[in-house]
Amino acid sequence: MKPNILEKIKKSLLDELDKIKKQISELQADDPFNDPEHVNNNAAVDHDVREQETHQRIEAEIDTIKERQQDIRIALQRIEKGRYGYCKRCNTKIPYARLELIPETIYCVKCESEIKT
Ligand SMILES: [Zn+2]
Repeated sequence: MKPNILEKIKKSLLDELDKIKKQISELQADDPFNDPEHVNNNAAVDHDVREQETHQRIEAEIDTIKERQQDIRIALQRIEKGRYGYCKRCNTKIPYARLELIPETIYCVKCESEIKT
């Protein structure tokens, strides 16, 4: 892969990491459990249930985002090692069209479908 293309991908991955960090802190700010006034103001029980649900939804969203964050970190490590663009599992060259679409991917289409099934 041409170094300038690699640089471009690296930059977009780093931008993505920044965005992810912001997303996580925004989600955490929306989490009622992180509200300092949350501390046992003992509102009605249904209020608590709603807060619990919001909290769980936010936690789940954060988990999904963190998985993506991890993928991006691994992709960046592979750029550093000069292994980016090759499948981590079978070592096949990943088509550029796929990398362009999902820059954090570290598997070829075949391996990814095998891992996920
Ligand atoms: Zn593969």
